[in-house]
Amino acid sequence: MIPFENTWPYERYGPDLYLHSCPFCQAPNVLLPLKEKDLTAIREGAKRLLVLPCCRGKMTVVDADADYLLAARPLRRKA
Ligand SMILES: [Zn+2]
Repeated sequence: MIPFENTWPYERYGPDLYLHSCPFCQAPNVLLPLKEKDLTAIREGAKRLLVLPCCRGKMTVVDADADYLLAARPLRRKA
C-alpha cells in the first residue's frame, strides 16, 4: 500500500521529465535531473536522491509509475 502523501505527479516532454510544480517551493515546471533510463532503474529497485534545481529541495525517489514518483518521505501535508 503506497502512502498517497509520499507521491508526486510528474510529466514528460520528449526526453525530459518535469514536475508540474515543486512540492517544496511551488515553483512551476521544474526540470528533473532524471531521465527515462533513471526511472527504469528506480522501478527495478534503485533509490535516487533528487536535488531540485528550483530550491535545492531534496527528495529520495524509491519508486515510480507512469504518472507519479514515490518518495521515501511524505511530500504532501496530511489533510
Ligand atoms: Zn522547489
